[in-house]
Amino acid sequence: MLIVMEALADDEQIERVCAEVAELGYTAHPMPGPTRTAIGITGNRGPILEAARIERLPGVHALIRVTAPYKLVSREFHEANSHIAVQDVTFGGTDIVVIAGPCTVESREQLLTVAQAVKAAGATMLRGGAYKPRTSPYAFQGLGEEGLRLLAEVRAITGLPIVTEAIDTETLPLVTEYADMIQIGARNMQNYALLKAAGRSQRPVLLKRGFAATVKDLLLAAEYVLNEGNSNVVLCERGIRSFDDTARFTLDLGAIPAIKELSHLPVIVDPSHAAGDWERVLPMARAAVAAGADGMIVEVHPNPAFALCDGQQSLVPERFATMMTQVAQVAAAVGRPVAGSHPSDIQK
Ligand code: PEP
Ligand code: MN
Repeated sequence: MLIVMEALADDEQIERVCAEVAELGYTAHPMPGPTRTAIGITGNRGPILEAARIERLPGVHALIRVTAPYKLVSREFHEANSHIAVQDVTFGGTDIVVIAGPCTVESREQLLTVAQAVKAAGATMLRGGAYKPRTSPYAFQGLGEEGLRLLAEVRAITGLPIVTEAIDTETLPLVTEYADMIQIGARNMQNYALLKAAGRSQRPVLLKRGFAATVKDLLLAAEYVLNEGNSNVVLCERGIRSFDDTARFTLDLGAIPAIKELSHLPVIVDPSHAAGDWERVLPMARAAVAAGADGMIVEVHPNPAFALCDGQQSLVPERFATMMTQVAQVAAAVGRPVAGSHPSDIQK
C-alpha cells in the first residue's frame, strides 16, 4: 500500500504516520517527491485491515493499494525515474551511459589497452569479469582477486569506474571492496541469497535479466535488493532464450518500454551477449537507444580471436568507436546525449 501525504504535510506528520505503520508491524518507506511525500508500506501479507487508522491521521491525503507483486521497484510506489549514481556517472537521467570493456580480465596489458581505447571513444565506465560463471566447468573461470586488483589499477590510471560480477556470496565481500558497481549476472538473477547480500552491501547493483526470466521475475529479483535497503539498482536486458536460435539470445527490446512503465529503475541493454556475434552488435546497440534504454554494456577486446571468453561477440576498439558515433546519432534523434560526449561528437 502507498500512503500519499498532503502537499503541506510537515515532518512531524510524516514521522507520526511512519510510527503508526511500525506499530502495526509493517515497514514504512518514506519517499519525498517534488510536491508531496509518499510512504510505501511493505511487510503486509494481504490487504491492510487497519487502513482506516492510518487514513485518519493528520496530513494523510489518500491511501492507494499497490496491485503489482513488487512494491519498492514499482512506479506505483515511486513515480519519478530513479537516478543511480556510480561515482560521477548517473544512470536514469537524460544521459545515455555506455559501459565497455572485455568480457574477462585476462592481463594488465589487455585491460589497460581496452580501457584506454573505450575511454577515448566516449565510454564512461569499464566492465571486466574477474569471476566468470561459465557454462562449462572446464572453461576459463576468471583471474579471481588478481583480476579485481587489475581492475582497480586500471581505474586509477583511467579514472573509469568499474563494474564487475559477483557470482556467489563467498566472494561478494571481496568484489564489493574493489568494484564501484556489482554485476549480478543472468545465471544468478534468482540467487536470492546473493541478491539479499548485495542488498545489504549498499554498492550500486547491475542486475541482468535471466535468460528464462519474465520481466516480472526480473522486477521481483530487484525487489530483493531494495528490500534489504539498497535502492541503487540498474536493470539490464541481455537477451532471452526463445524458439529461435539464430542469435545467441533474443534481445527483448519490448522489455525496455515495459520496464519503464512498471518501474522507476533505470534499464540498460547488453547487445553483446544477446547478439553473440560482433557483426550484429551495432544494430542492436542503435535499437536499444531508440527503444528508450538508459545505456548499454558492450564487450570490447583488442584481439578477439585470442579472447579467453566471448571473443566472437567482442568488438575491436575501432568498431566500438564507430558504434559510439552511431549511438550518439540515434541518441540525438530521441533527444538524449551520450554521457561524457560533447555535442560536437554527434557531427562526426
Ligand atoms: C557477462 O556480462 O560477461 C555475462 C556473463 O553476462 P550474462 O550474465 O548476461 O550472461
Ligand atoms: Mn561475456
